[in-house]
Amino acid sequence: MKETAQQIFDKDARDYLPVFNRYRIVLEHGEGAYVYDNTGKKYIDFLGGIAVNVLGHAYKPLVDAVAEQAGKLIHCSNLYYTQAQADAASKLVKLSGLGKAFFGNSGAEANEGAIKIARKYAHGIDPDKSQIITAWDSFHGRTIATLTATGQMKYQEGFGPLPDGFDYVPYNDIGELEKLMSDKTCAVMLETIQGEGGVHTPEGDYLKKVRALCDKHHALLIFDEIQAGIGRSGKFFAYEKYGVKPDIVTLAKGLAGGVPIGAFIVTDEVAKAFHAGDHGTTFGGNPLACAAANVVLDTVPQPEFLAHVEEVGGYFRQKLEALREKYPSLITEIRGTGLILGAQLTKPGRDIVNEVLEKGAIINCTAGTVLRFIPPLIITKEQVDEVVGILASVLPGHVDA
Ligand SMILES: *Cc1c(COP(=O)(O)O)cnc(C)c1O
Repeated sequence: MKETAQQIFDKDARDYLPVFNRYRIVLEHGEGAYVYDNTGKKYIDFLGGIAVNVLGHAYKPLVDAVAEQAGKLIHCSNLYYTQAQADAASKLVKLSGLGKAFFGNSGAEANEGAIKIARKYAHGIDPDKSQIITAWDSFHGRTIATLTATGQMKYQEGFGPLPDGFDYVPYNDIGELEKLMSDKTCAVMLETIQGEGGVHTPEGDYLKKVRALCDKHHALLIFDEIQAGIGRSGKFFAYEKYGVKPDIVTLAKGLAGGVPIGAFIVTDEVAKAFHAGDHGTTFGGNPLACAAANVVLDTVPQPEFLAHVEEVGGYFRQKLEALREKYPSLITEIRGTGLILGAQLTKPGRDIVNEVLEKGAIINCTAGTVLRFIPPLIITKEQVDEVVGILASVLPGHVDA
């Protein structure tokens, strides 16, 4: 029987582990860039399930591919081959120019696999070559290894003992990285564009210099593109935008348009470190998830699709800059590129997000004071105007007198 929102909140409070700060609406269905709650209220979705619903909601080719695959074979284990998995891996290898792909079920698992293969590869050179350097304000996941890789103490506190061998540097600070690296460095792992930490893009030649330091110390460069990849930056991989190629790249969020999946892709050289039995997964890369990924991988890399992301992203950015000029005491900076954009506020953003929600738009606040926009990549300029209009009506109430 269909319950009221209040009944569902009560049930959740009683039975669900209270780890999420949820907004108090119950979502029921979606269409394109819109979602509807269980009272029929419509919202424009500029969070996209946290950068997941890249093709929007109920995208017909994705729905059809998932339904068709579900009717044939949802799962069969990795002890057998499937057409869907082989196709998805080939597409990722071709798009990345790297050598081998592996599928898991989430971002954290993708990074966990990347860390494992980097360690094993470096171990083959020198058993003490184990240092993994990541950035402050990064986000790499919630498993014990990936929360250790995450350079934010709030995610680590109370979960020790944590694995050894992780060190942190300020993002965009090449000097600090240079000081910390040695021939004992196994890998440098960075988000190409930091998402959860507040939408920070690489400055100048930072990533090229990181690549050069990795080459100098025979360390692997791992780009976590779980949030910034899959076309969000305007390139399929964000690293293409900065002219730097990693040894390993990780993907998840948008990769199957909402069906759980994660992937890490490595060079053929790094791939040599893993042999049968070194890694595995029961669900990862099952035909259902890969059928969904194949739709995304046939759609997002198309030049017209990526050009659309660039264009709408550029338009959105201009509109956000105009809001910053209008309310300089509230918005100090607009950051990001393509359709991963952030507005740095001078105060916590949660109240703004709540009021915007009340007016029918879903946006997000991350790092406490950054409004983050990671919408479906299919949004139109008119839809940008719709959200900017709602923002423009809410922001004045938050400007200090
Ligand atoms: C979301 C995210 C992760 C973790 O992905 P999960 O699927 O939640 O495990 C890792 N890295 C980055 C950059 C992310 O944005």
